[in-house]
Amino acid sequence: MENSDKNQIVELDLLANISKVLTENFEPTDIVNCLNGVFNKFISLDKLEIYVYDDNTKTLRDFAKSWIIVDDLHQNAYPGKLYLSLSKFNQYDFILNEKGFKIEKFSKLKDANTDESINTILFPLMKKNKPYGIIKLNFLTDISKILTFNFFKALSIASYQISLKIQNTILAEQMQINIDFHDAMKNIAKIIETQYELNYIIPLIGEMVDRFISEHLIYIFLRNADDTGFELVWPRACRDKRIISIVSKITAKSKYMLTDEGKIGIFPLVGEKALLGCVVAHSNVDKLSKKEIDYLEQLTKQSSITIHRANVYAEVLQHATLDALTGLNNRRQFEIRLNQEVATAKRQGKPLCAMMLDVDFFKNVNDSYGHVVGDCVLKDIAKIIKAELREYDIASRYGGEEFAILLPYTKIEEAFAVAQRLRHAVEIASIDITDEKGGCNLSVKITVSIGVYEYNREDTAQDLYKKADNALYEAKTHGRNKVFMYQ
Ligand code: GH3
Ligand code: MG
Ligand code: MG
Repeated sequence: MENSDKNQIVELDLLANISKVLTENFEPTDIVNCLNGVFNKFISLDKLEIYVYDDNTKTLRDFAKSWIIVDDLHQNAYPGKLYLSLSKFNQYDFILNEKGFKIEKFSKLKDANTDESINTILFPLMKKNKPYGIIKLNFLTDISKILTFNFFKALSIASYQISLKIQNTILAEQMQINIDFHDAMKNIAKIIETQYELNYIIPLIGEMVDRFISEHLIYIFLRNADDTGFELVWPRACRDKRIISIVSKITAKSKYMLTDEGKIGIFPLVGEKALLGCVVAHSNVDKLSKKEIDYLEQLTKQSSITIHRANVYAEVLQHATLDALTGLNNRRQFEIRLNQEVATAKRQGKPLCAMMLDVDFFKNVNDSYGHVVGDCVLKDIAKIIKAELREYDIASRYGGEEFAILLPYTKIEEAFAVAQRLRHAVEIASIDITDEKGGCNLSVKITVSIGVYEYNREDTAQDLYKKADNALYEAKTHGRNKVFMYQ
């Protein structure tokens, strides 16, 4: 066989290997790792790296690692991001600045047969005749002598194949974000059907917006109770005085507003034509992209409905006595009964105990299975509580995943025994979650901690509750799944 034929086989072999890698791998890291392996088989490669232009950060990022390339001046402008210094790259032939990214003097690569020593080759990744990234091959030695024209041609064919794959991967990533977004919207719609506590709903909305607008700080403001202005409700603090002053000026417009060259976006929350509050997205670096504005508009629209409904609910619930999710007494009713029972105990000199119960690591249930499953678990715990108590005991959902129970005519020893029985009943129960079609597909194990306290003639109604809650705190700090009496 002629020498050149043999070489041709090597080149075909390289291309075949690359095709195989590209069809078998889908994760950016896997793609780059496997390509490294293939190239290593054929040339003494140090490493292959792939950088793609990122529209959000206006810089190149490492396709496999999400590191970004920035110049020394702008390193602080990307908090929380891993970066590669641009100066490390300046020796190569691309320009990266505010306006975008451009490869220069690509032609130099075409006369690879010159005397110049070659330790690095850059291939552009092209889309619609415009470069959107580079493949960088670093060699251990000068390869100018061994690099044949055909091999170079094979490399450049390979770069086209790789480019197609990368475009597909980036597209798939973007599609996945879209799918996640619509799932999240569906999920939030489901959650709110039974939820009316703003201090439960707002953090959920905040976390969700944060997830999809990740390069920006997110704030949620609501009109304050006396309707004189706005107060921050998520997260706890906002150090930026400018944002507070911008928010104080917004009026009931239904359209969003951009300031500071698009780096601050204010999205009003409007219910029944009244301004309920706003969501603010703020970044020191990035403008909000069109996509992000679209997301924020959809999210705030959905959130407006939720918040408005929660407000309406809150009004209705002023007159309700039962909790909508569990059917137990609600917190308001608990307070009324607490006062009544304390008065009776005082008058009649009869014993009275209070129990506070809190689900252990309930956040994990929500995080692992979602809030809908979390709600099912709360309903089942309420059922167990009802089953374990006597008819004249008073069980209430105090808030979130906390339950308050009053045990009239009960001494502390008995109350402690009831609490232990209840704790044990929850521990051994397996809570089956059924899907919409009725097939059972999940079984959740859960425990609770309980604090118990017996009323003493000196106590106020608030003392009774507070001391039971203190005991609950002790049960938590002593390892959970425990019952503690107030000491
Ligand atoms: P521990 O009490 O053992 O210290 O841990 P935890 O994870 O239970 O404690 P934490 O109080 O931090 O979390 C309580 C969680 O309960 C946070 C909140 O999202 C969730 N939660 C509150 N109300 C509801 C509700 O009505 N439904 C659901 N699904 N979750 C709720
Ligand atoms: Mg709690
Ligand atoms: Mg808890």
